[in-house]
Amino acid sequence: MINTTDHQDKLTPLEAWQATLGELQLQLAKSTFDAWLKDTTLVAAEDGVYTIGARNSYARDWLDNRMRGLVKRTLARIVGRQVDIRFIVDAKPVESPAPRDLIGYDPADSAPTRNNGTNGHSCILNSRYTFETFVGSGGNRVPYEISRAVSERPGAGYNPLFLYGGVGLGKTHLLHAIGISATQRGRKVLYVPSEQFTNELVGSIRARTTEEFRNKYRSVDVFLLDDVQFVAGKDSTQEELFHTFNALHSANRQIVIACDRPPRDVVGLDERLRSRFEGGLVVEILPPDFAARMRILQTKCEARARGISAAVLELIAQTVETNVRELEGALNRVIAHWEALRQPPTVETTQAILKDMLPAGGRPSPEAIVQRVADYFAIAPEALLGPSRKQQIVVPRQIAMYLLCTETDLSLEQIGAFMGHRNHTTILHGRDKIRALMETDPTTRLHVQAIRERMRQPAAARQMA
Ligand code: ADP
Ligand code: MG
Repeated sequence: MINTTDHQDKLTPLEAWQATLGELQLQLAKSTFDAWLKDTTLVAAEDGVYTIGARNSYARDWLDNRMRGLVKRTLARIVGRQVDIRFIVDAKPVESPAPRDLIGYDPADSAPTRNNGTNGHSCILNSRYTFETFVGSGGNRVPYEISRAVSERPGAGYNPLFLYGGVGLGKTHLLHAIGISATQRGRKVLYVPSEQFTNELVGSIRARTTEEFRNKYRSVDVFLLDDVQFVAGKDSTQEELFHTFNALHSANRQIVIACDRPPRDVVGLDERLRSRFEGGLVVEILPPDFAARMRILQTKCEARARGISAAVLELIAQTVETNVRELEGALNRVIAHWEALRQPPTVETTQAILKDMLPAGGRPSPEAIVQRVADYFAIAPEALLGPSRKQQIVVPRQIAMYLLCTETDLSLEQIGAFMGHRNHTTILHGRDKIRALMETDPTTRLHVQAIRERMRQPAAARQMA
């Protein structure tokens, strides 16, 4: 049944799939391969139909829409005959919320709170993510205060509350904090990442239990929906979400949504949902300023009963500027060294530790920067270096110039030469344009943050290994 061994190259289906992955790895940008293909599994192979498991429905849809042809051709070449490919969601991993994402997460210090208000359904809140452990100063002051108010009087004001901001800035933390606080006030709370919402919906359609699904989601006082960007482009999920939203909203139940960008920037978001989301309060979560980073570090130290000198904390807060998750990662590293060496960290040892966290060689290469920008905007790197004046190329190109200026030691002339022999004044203009937009335009700020984030990811991954 599962057998292609009678074909010329005597590969088992599994070997054929592994060879295919090997080939695709060579053909595709590393970021693309790692994000979408690395974790796929061969689920079945029958009569030339290969069933490939993806981690979640979002990955499945993406692979189906963007990779099917390429995967099919590559696999066919390897097995030496026509094949067909089917992508499915691999049944095993049901996405659990935040804890596994955390660098240095210690299950021992985080007993999940199962919320009983929802008949034992999948609402698991991380008891570490409370308002007490969240530093609500600087750019986070407004979202913090509003979240608190919402948890105290759900449904009474800002409804829905739409929180958006870059990766690792505390969106999930705030959703959990609202959930925990509202639960303590006796409210029925349901927290769900939007991918899980989709998976459950699809499961309930298959099992003909949509009635139960609806009852579950429409019977809560507080509905917390995380990472809503993942519903974009999924028609049946959006349809269901729209009705869930209306049912809850008209009954004055609280809805809180987290997203990595503002509603108007979510490509593929249903217009009706967009206008519903914008009908409440939309709040941006900003990266913490230096003072807030210091307070976050101090809070994390207290939580772990660690006294680290202010000078060391300052050094960490100066070095890790954008992402709170990375900030925590840096602190965890410093504490780990302390435990290993049984000596409190000094500024000097901390400097050495933090240096290790930067990407290899300290700084990204110009090629890597251009590649990341191109990947992010889904355009060819050559287009960034070329002469096109189209708006959808010009802005990414200027972002590349800005990042080349801020993330490398290259001179304006060198950057000009690299960017397709442009004059150094062009580079200067591009850099300043983006710098100014970063102050005034949230979209540009999010783009730049997200790309920076991706440039740093390999280092963070190494650090976790
Ligand atoms: P997001 O959902 O925005 O990607 P998370 O909520 O998962 O980010 O936050 C990442 C990590 O940073 C979590 O461990 C969270 O507790 C921590 N964190 C983020 N912002 C703050 C803050 N203002 N105060 C304390 N911890 C924070
Ligand atoms: Mg999150």
